[in-house]
Amino acid sequence: MAESSVEKVHCLIIGSGPAGYTAAIYAARANMKPVLYQGIQPGGQLTITTEVENYPGYPDGIQGPEMMVHFEKQAARMGADIRFGLATKVDFSKQPYRVEIDEEKWIEADAVIISTGASAKWLGLESEQRLNGFGVSACAVCDGFFFRGKEVAIVGAGDTAAEEALYLSKLCSTVHMFIRRDQMRASKVMQDRVQNTSNIKIYWNTDTEEILGEHKTEAVRIKNNKTGEEQTIAISGFFVAIGHQPNSDIFKGWIDMDEAGYIKTVPGSSKTNIEGIFAAGDVQDKIYRQAVTAAGSGCMAALDTERYLSAKGLV
Ligand code: NDP
Repeated sequence: MAESSVEKVHCLIIGSGPAGYTAAIYAARANMKPVLYQGIQPGGQLTITTEVENYPGYPDGIQGPEMMVHFEKQAARMGADIRFGLATKVDFSKQPYRVEIDEEKWIEADAVIISTGASAKWLGLESEQRLNGFGVSACAVCDGFFFRGKEVAIVGAGDTAAEEALYLSKLCSTVHMFIRRDQMRASKVMQDRVQNTSNIKIYWNTDTEEILGEHKTEAVRIKNNKTGEEQTIAISGFFVAIGHQPNSDIFKGWIDMDEAGYIKTVPGSSKTNIEGIFAAGDVQDKIYRQAVTAAGSGCMAALDTERYLSAKGLV
């Protein structure tokens, strides 16, 4: 690696969702001169949602993309150096840590905050992408409220799907739950809760064929994969809860992760297995996954970084 293409920074933040920007705000205010690389989707998952009504401080709600512009502006106003670019490789073998950007330049950092987020998995249907934000959602806690008193459907059979189906059952008249096998993957207690909730209707061995509607979700066509029988159900909302994929591939082999690729942090902190490397937001959280919890953990990562750099006499 040519030394001329290496830039030295104190605090490098990778990712631009609520976790990354919040870390940048705190790090800039603590004079850590953070440099933040936004990644492939500046603003993260919130840029593909519509209205956000559960982020405190916005009494009238706000569009997800607009909220992320606010996060970015606030971080920039505090002095964070925000750049477009994707982290493509890392070398965490020694300090300072090295991160390659866009496969062309290297950054050397005294401390790194990983806030690369996670991506919802989708079924891969054309109609699912077309109606995303128009009745199709991958987050019941974010969007369930818009379907109060209406019929909705959810696909998935893990703990997330079970939790989201129960959440929706409190808001919606009926929750049609499509499960591709004849059993659920969710923990027994969650399965029991789902099966004992009167307005959750389970369809076993069921695949989603297509979501129907021109400009908004109006119905869903499903097929029993044992009998071949098809049916169309009128719904207003369609929730996909088939898992998330943490964006952690480039850190594999360096940072400890669970089997699904979520980065492990020391409980009650943002510390990873490597001193001076911290993780925040959805890349290390498969349970809560909310903008506000991600922002909170971004704050924790910046405070942990500040303590680390000051103990080393680097800020
Ligand atoms: P999981 O990977 O556990 O479950 C995904 C579910 O989606 C599975 O039931 C799977 O079906 C189904 N699925 C996958 N692809 C498709 C598809 N193309 N069509 C239809 N169905 C599909 O993901 P979760 O997000 O539910 O959970 C991730 C982890 O987080 C788990 O370890 C879970 O226990 C944990 N978690 C814990 C919570 C808690 O403790 N409160 C809350 C939420 C999550 P199949 O079973 O057939 O493979």
